[in-house]
Amino acid sequence: MKTITSHYIDGAFVESHGRETMDSINPSNGELIGRALLADEEDTRRAIAAAKRAFTTYSVSKLEERADNLRRLHRATSARLDDLTAAMVDEYGGVVQFAGLIVQSGVNAFLAAEKAIHAMPWTRSWDKTTVTLEPVGVAGLTTAWNANALFNCLKLASAVAAGCTVVIKPSELSSLQTRVLVEALHNARLPAGLVNIVTGRGQVVGAELVRNPDVAKISFTGSLEVGESIMRDGAATMKRVTLELGGKSPTILLDDANLDKAIPAVLFMAFKNSGQACAAGTRLLVPTKRLEAVKRAIVDAMTAFPVGDPADPKVAVGPMVSQKQYERVQYYIRKGIDDGAEVLIGGESHPQGLEQGYFVKPTIFVNVTNDMAIAREEIFGPVVSVIAYSSEEDAIRIANDSKYGLHAAVLGSDLSRARRVASQLRAGRVVINGMTDDPQAPWGGFKYSGVGREYGVFGIGGLCGNTGHPRLDHLITTPWIFV
Ligand code: NAD
Repeated sequence: MKTITSHYIDGAFVESHGRETMDSINPSNGELIGRALLADEEDTRRAIAAAKRAFTTYSVSKLEERADNLRRLHRATSARLDDLTAAMVDEYGGVVQFAGLIVQSGVNAFLAAEKAIHAMPWTRSWDKTTVTLEPVGVAGLTTAWNANALFNCLKLASAVAAGCTVVIKPSELSSLQTRVLVEALHNARLPAGLVNIVTGRGQVVGAELVRNPDVAKISFTGSLEVGESIMRDGAATMKRVTLELGGKSPTILLDDANLDKAIPAVLFMAFKNSGQACAAGTRLLVPTKRLEAVKRAIVDAMTAFPVGDPADPKVAVGPMVSQKQYERVQYYIRKGIDDGAEVLIGGESHPQGLEQGYFVKPTIFVNVTNDMAIAREEIFGPVVSVIAYSSEEDAIRIANDSKYGLHAAVLGSDLSRARRVASQLRAGRVVINGMTDDPQAPWGGFKYSGVGREYGVFGIGGLCGNTGHPRLDHLITTPWIFV
């Protein structure tokens, strides 16, 4: 069993001032695998103070220095790729075939940010004015448990590129994964205080970051409820915020879609990361006239999505992260049945033979209407609602009839038609005929899915502010009148 008693502050491992302990449980079998001391407000304030000191020099660093830091971060985290993946499998229950991709995309974020540095409009001039982009200050980076390495690396990469110093607060459910990451980041030998990492509870460490006047920006990935509180509480110190929140993403299957290709893609988008994915395509919109064919195709394709031991490379769906998350998914499956939806695949309780861990049955509901709770609320598990539509306009209306607007997908053979439908969807990212990753493309939501964008120049821009410099000769000759 691993024991963690320190945090990472000012370039060193520092014993925790906070004394509360938290156990790490392997979600595949319920076994205790680690114990960590959680940070408290004092640990958090020390980390903020270190970041504030480091900001005085790092904020004026040359772009080449920032690029060099990003390259070193990439090398240091690449060296621990397998360890990061293994920790994600053990502590979170991420299936190894997908956990490896998630970790890899976190590691890649450093090189992607280095590339984006060169595409940033750091300086723009016109007439007698020059505008420069300046780092906003100390950034508090608060992340969720479902892709620990990815979120922490991605947010850190943008901050390092922008010239910000950071305090990272990973989820308290990710202590073991975070420890591997911190060891890797330490090996990058960055200037002391540039990166500080304190794992603790949201209401303790997260809340201190939000209220502390020395933190200029919060970049948050997590639930809508906490996102709302950050926006509200952050107002007292005029925090800038980026909020990456939840989703209830629609997948529109057009009537000309080739089901042999489309249905496996639909199920992949729904079940990736065991359905614990903000972008999971959990509302499948199907033309009424193809409903029966789609149901048959889903039943056939499900054989490629086995549930089980996440360390097995053939397994597609692992356990939920915790007993709490298991119960949440069970609640919604029960709710769907009570509200009159029909279970096509799956249903309540554990899959047979997997009673020890937090495993749920991947579940497909049919006969769902878009006003049911299972179609409106984020479940954050492998549960899909199939909703029938009568026309293209009807599909677009149903897709947009959601408080969320994070992600959407359109599948169909006629590409120009698919593009036309996609262009009418209110989502921060819309993909056509499958998901591809582009680390320079913006990520973020409309509506209750959040505020701001991450990745590439969009993510770096979110950590910068504009400063206008009227040229001095102009200032001298022309008086300014401020009203
Ligand atoms: P959560 O909101 O419970 O926790 C997220 C983080 O916020 C954790 O580190 C937590 O400790 C912290 N926190 C909790 N209370 C806080 C407070 N009062 N002040 C400051 N910080 C606080 O979310 P979760 O359960 O960890 O993650 C699941 C949610 O995250 C889902 O809604 C999912 O859609 C969302 N998510 C969004 C994205 C995205 O990119 N849009 C990606 C992954 C997950």
